[in-house]
Amino acid sequence: MYNTLGELVSLGEVLEVSTDRRAKRYDPNAHRPHHHLVCAQCGAIRDVHPAGDPLADLPAGERFGFVVSAVEVTYRGVCPNCAAA
Ligand SMILES: [Zn+2]
Ligand SMILES: [Zn+2]
Repeated sequence: MYNTLGELVSLGEVLEVSTDRRAKRYDPNAHRPHHHLVCAQCGAIRDVHPAGDPLADLPAGERFGFVVSAVEVTYRGVCPNCAAA
């Protein structure tokens, strides 16, 4: 790999995903809208792709006049490895 992650982020090739104030994760799947499952114990992240358009889930009355262009949902829980430990 020739590029650093930071260079890839600046190129828009990966999406920086903040899971908390300290950790930064890098997402190689930036070109397709999707959500994330995050393990609260080890920090494992899985991409998930819910059916339908997640932008459409926000009622007009909850948009406060924003023109919404993106959405990111984080499902938090415990991964199978941690659950088995
Ligand atoms: Zn885990
Ligand atoms: Zn992702």
